[in-house]
Amino acid sequence: MKIFVTGGAGFIGCNFIIKQLSETDNKILNFDKLTYAGNLESLRHVESNNNYSFVKGDICDRAIVQDALEKFQPDAIVNFAAESHVDRSIDAPFNFIDTNIVGTAILLDESLNYYKHIKGIKKNNFKFLHISTDEVYGSLGENDFFSETTAYDPSSPYSASKASSDHLVKAWHRTYELPVVITNCSNNYGPYQFPEKLIPLVILNCISGLDLPIYGKGDNIRDWLHVADHCDAIYKVLISGKLGNTYNIGGNNEIKNIDIVNIICAKMNEILPRSNNQKYEELITFVKDRPGHDFRYAIDSTKICEELSWYPKESFETGIEKTINWYLNNKLWWESIKDKKYNQERLGVFGA
Ligand code: NAD
Repeated sequence: MKIFVTGGAGFIGCNFIIKQLSETDNKILNFDKLTYAGNLESLRHVESNNNYSFVKGDICDRAIVQDALEKFQPDAIVNFAAESHVDRSIDAPFNFIDTNIVGTAILLDESLNYYKHIKGIKKNNFKFLHISTDEVYGSLGENDFFSETTAYDPSSPYSASKASSDHLVKAWHRTYELPVVITNCSNNYGPYQFPEKLIPLVILNCISGLDLPIYGKGDNIRDWLHVADHCDAIYKVLISGKLGNTYNIGGNNEIKNIDIVNIICAKMNEILPRSNNQKYEELITFVKDRPGHDFRYAIDSTKICEELSWYPKESFETGIEKTINWYLNNKLWWESIKDKKYNQERLGVFGA
């Protein structure tokens, strides 16, 4: 297969590309704008692979999208490209509207133009897979789960822009018969995640002896999915997912934010004891909550498990240990980000 991957220099996209190149013979074109979140260092070790190529481009730029599709002639498109951080969407919502809504619409339209001209078996097998989030469903109480039929009820500019993009993908299917599939997943963690997100932020702040900021009381609950499990699910949906369908992907790991931070601190106490003999837990600091902070997300993955025989393999216990060790062993990767782009500062404190 030839897979046109957008946003492949970001966290999930680069993990997907690295896995594809090591486990399949598929050819991958990585189409990425290289925003602050895009990092070609993550792909440095595969850039000479004959099955990999890269084009710097913006999904909002119709001409460059068209040109890249025509030249590469993909069998499938996987759209990871997005502005992805809720806190940044509070500070600068229009970046999210541009890429996540307008950009997705342009990518859909150019994919449709490309698809109309494909012939034969390639046309029958073509798929546009849109990667989305469980945040489109809004916030849960203590007990329910999100299923594929849960009504959309997004809270943040990020989740509202992703919800809009999902609706556009469905519209291009129902109206123009573009062969699409959508996945909505829970919070990912693992290697190469930009350190503005909770898990890498906490690991790196532990390493640097900085405060570990907890929004509100830390009671918010997320369902954590290891990125390798997510990438396996994406490939299964790409190969066998039913056209026009949505598949929810979760990790069966519902954990409160405060518990995540305590688990990381406990592992860090074992792996890298602090030189002052204090525990990492002493760095925990409670800060003003995120505005509109959803209380709980939890995914019912029954559909993808039953239809596509996908199950998460990684427990949180094993996954977090591997992730901590990855950050400890890949200092050069995250130091280059800290130098150039981001210094672990607090974002998204509207009204503070
Ligand atoms: P990320 O922020 O790490 O990476 C996004 C990538 O998209 C970057 O490489 C960036 O340069 C690129 N990009 C941004 N705007 C672009 C544009 N206009 N044109 C081309 N490229 C552009 O994001 P991620 O965490 O890897 O998430 C990937 C996808 O998965 C996103 O659509 C996100 O909404 C979704 N998702 C992520 C999570 C998570 O926990 N990380 C959970 C659910 C859904």
